[in-house]
Amino acid sequence: MVIIESSYRRSRHNKSKVPTRNIIFGVLLLAVFILVVLSLVQYLSGRALHSEIDELKESVRQLEQENETLQRQYEEILEENITLREENHMLRSSKIITHGDRDSNKVALTIDDGGRSDLVDIALQSLAEENTRATFFVLGTWLELEPDVWRQIVEEGHELGNHTYSHRYLTDMNTDEINAELALWQELADKAVGRSYKTYFFRPPGLEGFHENQSEQRNQYLEIVAEKGMFVTLWDVDHFYGLGGGNMPAERITDYVLDKAQSGSIILLHCRENDLAALPAIIQGLRDQGLEPCSLSELLLNGFAT
Ligand SMILES: [Zn+2]
Repeated sequence: MVIIESSYRRSRHNKSKVPTRNIIFGVLLLAVFILVVLSLVQYLSGRALHSEIDELKESVRQLEQENETLQRQYEEILEENITLREENHMLRSSKIITHGDRDSNKVALTIDDGGRSDLVDIALQSLAEENTRATFFVLGTWLELEPDVWRQIVEEGHELGNHTYSHRYLTDMNTDEINAELALWQELADKAVGRSYKTYFFRPPGLEGFHENQSEQRNQYLEIVAEKGMFVTLWDVDHFYGLGGGNMPAERITDYVLDKAQSGSIILLHCRENDLAALPAIIQGLRDQGLEPCSLSELLLNGFAT
């Protein structure tokens, strides 16, 4: 009886050990399973995070691109605004300009017609030595003949103004002919400079470009010039007409110009030997008077009132 009981206990004891091992094994299995699941979740969420970061990086890149585009647009609008303000300022001034701001110390140097390249070289050399810019009212015929000379002039910081193609009096021409003269000049200037060249300045050939008693034709050509976005730009200092024409000695030209020049003046010179010989003394003399020689753009477009 005792034997039976003890064998029964033993058998019960063995049976209780098996489920315990199973439970431990189960728990371990569960733990491994949980660990695997957790790792999987972590791996998946890591991947999701990475793709989110990539998306964010892409958004930042796009925003940077948009920002660059906006910055460019802003600069373009700013430039356009400056141009419009310049045009507005010019439009508010008289249609025929003979001088700039009398309160400024600036004086514009304008050199008309154009000529042999050796003469132009003398002008360029004097202007470079004095670190001064000027406006050249060159004829279309010279632009056609020596385009390289006029490109160099622009490259050196000077500017070109429209003085017609052939120097015919405007009032001797009909509207179509005037339009053709101005357009041909523009075409040749673009070709010489190698790009679309904008000038605000037009100077008619021969004083105001008309004979007396031709006011109707004069108004017609003024309209054509205005339509092309240019302004008739004459002068208030001119030894050629002032001294009765002819080829005056350089000293006489210098004295005349320095005597007549004042703040805001526009000085008319021609591409002639004596005029250009006088140029260095004119520039120095103006500076001695506290005046600063410059181009028409520098006199009429810079520092305009808003
Ligand atoms: Zn001329």
